[in-house]
Amino acid sequence: MSQLPESQHTTATQIVKWYESKPQEHRPHMGASMIGHSCERYIWLSWRWVLKPEFKGRMLRLFGTGQREEPRFLEELKGIGAEVWDVDPATGNQWRVSAFNGHFAGSLDGVAKGVPEAPKTPCVVELKTHNEKSFNELVKKKVQAAKPQHYDQMQIYMGLMDLERALYLACNKNTDDVYSEWVHFDHDRFSVLMSRAQRLIESAEPPLRISTDANHFECKWCSMWKHCHGGQAAEANCRTCCFATPVENAEWHCAKLKLPLTTAMQREACDHHLLLPALVPFGEVQDGGDDWVAYSLKDSGEMFVNGPHNIKEFGPLFSSKELHMTNGSLMQLAIQTKNEFPVSKVLSGTTHPYADLSTAFDDIATHPDDIPVKPDKREDKIKKEKIRTSVKNLEALK
Ligand code: SF4
Ligand code: SF4
Repeated sequence: MSQLPESQHTTATQIVKWYESKPQEHRPHMGASMIGHSCERYIWLSWRWVLKPEFKGRMLRLFGTGQREEPRFLEELKGIGAEVWDVDPATGNQWRVSAFNGHFAGSLDGVAKGVPEAPKTPCVVELKTHNEKSFNELVKKKVQAAKPQHYDQMQIYMGLMDLERALYLACNKNTDDVYSEWVHFDHDRFSVLMSRAQRLIESAEPPLRISTDANHFECKWCSMWKHCHGGQAAEANCRTCCFATPVENAEWHCAKLKLPLTTAMQREACDHHLLLPALVPFGEVQDGGDDWVAYSLKDSGEMFVNGPHNIKEFGPLFSSKELHMTNGSLMQLAIQTKNEFPVSKVLSGTTHPYADLSTAFDDIATHPDDIPVKPDKREDKIKKEKIRTSVKNLEALK
């Protein structure tokens, strides 16, 4: 017997939706908690804001659960007689480490001294919550083998804080069992991780995918799957633009406007946005100028252009935002649509590229009778129907 769909009006559903309604933003810096990730490409794509995280409400609530456990752990450490500094006495703010002009950074849960493992030794404190399975594995294998990303995070904190030890405290969310481990500084691992961060920050292109298999076990659950395997181009923000460079003081600079870029400006981008070609997974670069790139579709060879000017000989113009909205599998139809229904604004080269496709599609969608038509042959009807479907799909992607 088929089940009735879950009601959208229960309190539980509304709570989950409330979490989902909060904006999920990109993080400004490359995080120390991320640097041990098994896929370097993921670290780079996240730092360059290629796709916004789309966590489900349940996951967002779960992150909050982990954060709520931190004050309790710190209180317990004080309760057993340790000295605990949950904020940096020099600033009154959370302990923070950074490197490479501030583009690589992390926040510590605390610093402590007087813990039973070595009462005279100051240490980094790292606090984590685990589900039953993960906790049992941690107890069995210890943190370096069971949670290498947490281990690497602590190595960065110890190296940048000039401390030799870290206390890893974890709790089992199912049973409230507590696990503690005394972790030693590993200089070699610290150096490897720092070199990795520097290399990724200085690279203008993403590392290769860890697998070309869309069902690879790491890729299958990855939030960058749509970009790496699903044919979606990057979002249009300054981090994905050819003109942006990371500079001093954790800032970014725009070579086009010759301006420093605040985080708010980076999120917005401007009309000159030009996608880094490596972030257009369905396109093969064919030519380019100061502010445009011409591509051919990898699958079928049709030409299109990204940029604010219309370079007519290379096919229709797409703004970066349009390329992001148009999945690679729809690009062939989108190109046909632009070729079949040219809009004067597009042909004259508007200064506002984001207006192009939406205006074109508005015209088609709201005034179909305006399109001059002769009675269509059957194959033409099918072709136009396909194009209209692609328009609807594109609209739905907005
Ligand atoms: S989808 Fe795969 S290759 Fe792409 S970032 Fe994720 S893990 Fe790396
Ligand atoms: S050209 Fe515009 S979108 Fe590109 S980096 Fe400069 S301000 Fe950002």
